[in-house]
Amino acid sequence: MELRARIADLMPRARDELTELVELRSVADARQFPPEECERTAHWVEGRFRDLGFADVHLEETADGSQAVIGSRPGTDPTGPTVLLYAHYDVQPPLDDDAWRTPPFQLTEVDGRWYGRGTADCKGNIVMHLAALRALGDDLAVNLKLVVEGSEEQGTGGLEAFVPDHADLLRADTILVCDTGNAAVGVPAATVSLRGMVNVVVTVEALTSELHSGMFGGAAPDALAALIAMLATLRDSAGNTTIAGLDNTQTWTGQPYPPEQFRTDAGLVGTATLIGSGSVSDMLWARPAVTILGIDCAPVVGSASSITPKAAARLNLRIPPGMAPERARDALVEQLVTAAPWGVNVSTETEAVGEPFRAATDGPAYRAMGEAMLEAFGQPMASLGQGGSIPLCNVFADTYPDTELILIGVEEPQCLIHAPNESVDPQEIATMALTEALFLQRYGTSPR
Ligand SMILES: [Zn+2]
Repeated sequence: MELRARIADLMPRARDELTELVELRSVADARQFPPEECERTAHWVEGRFRDLGFADVHLEETADGSQAVIGSRPGTDPTGPTVLLYAHYDVQPPLDDDAWRTPPFQLTEVDGRWYGRGTADCKGNIVMHLAALRALGDDLAVNLKLVVEGSEEQGTGGLEAFVPDHADLLRADTILVCDTGNAAVGVPAATVSLRGMVNVVVTVEALTSELHSGMFGGAAPDALAALIAMLATLRDSAGNTTIAGLDNTQTWTGQPYPPEQFRTDAGLVGTATLIGSGSVSDMLWARPAVTILGIDCAPVVGSASSITPKAAARLNLRIPPGMAPERARDALVEQLVTAAPWGVNVSTETEAVGEPFRAATDGPAYRAMGEAMLEAFGQPMASLGQGGSIPLCNVFADTYPDTELILIGVEEPQCLIHAPNESVDPQEIATMALTEALFLQRYGTSPR
């Protein structure tokens, strides 16, 4: 039987398996859900891959206490390439229970989509791996390795710390990072670019204490007004991020993000317009973007008629590939200090710095993936960017500089990952499983 037909036959089983996985409330935060839920999920994953020939599959504890499922399976050609399959079994918390139209931990079909926490991110990708491997059977040249981590959504970095310390265990010619998805259902894509980020807290001090705004206002420097003036220099009137020394004119050459779709995805209110002088994809994936995450000052209710002596803001700067985070942080701080009016004291604290990521797309695995997507979807593979960061990709790239990293998966925009009413399109699971199977077949026999 042909692979496509075999995967179609395997879909009822994929649904049963995803149902079992969604029932396991594997939020990797003991304050919210019992840790046994994660443990059971890890063992569930371990068992399924053992049945598929990963004889050495086992759990490894990582630095943050989470357990990663790790294993391997030799191919029929010992000289063949090695592919590491990645996914994560932990999920985001359900958030607002009342906002869910179906029970978050019960797979429920509505209008052909499967709803439930983790149906897409990332349990849908685990089921995709299982369906692809079952459809292929044992006749596969590539050597397989597996890592399914247990704390991706927490940002506690368990696997990020584990990889460099166990470099040989996970070493591969190609890593399939299956935790992203297509631009839309049925439109195949690989994610080739991730933004980096810098978080900075800036504090402004102008006075030793609050002052009566009637007695002192007009001559005394106001820390909040100073902070606002400084923050205002970070964008121009069109909404472009303007930080001296950071290029804000780069353009995105991959798949564009249609503005109408972005308007809907982002939920703009009636008269609000998109910002920036570039296209949506330029603004999201090719240019720096600063966001004010929070401001410390008097709240409206409870504020007095007084001048603010001290104010602070927490800033998040996203940067595209090619921009060094430390240099971007320095440019941001420099501009804030330079823009500070009235001789106020300015201090800054760097909270976090993350590198951007760009995938190399000129290797044999990318070629094989492009062919597999074309055959599975009947359309060529597009290149997408993603505005967020996946720190693990930088760890993989640093640890294995010659390894090809390919970011794919079942998480398209309609999935609403990380939000209430997460769902997956079962056809995406089927077609992506077919893609993965075709890729593994082709890559195993392709010249390297
Ligand atoms: Zn994920």
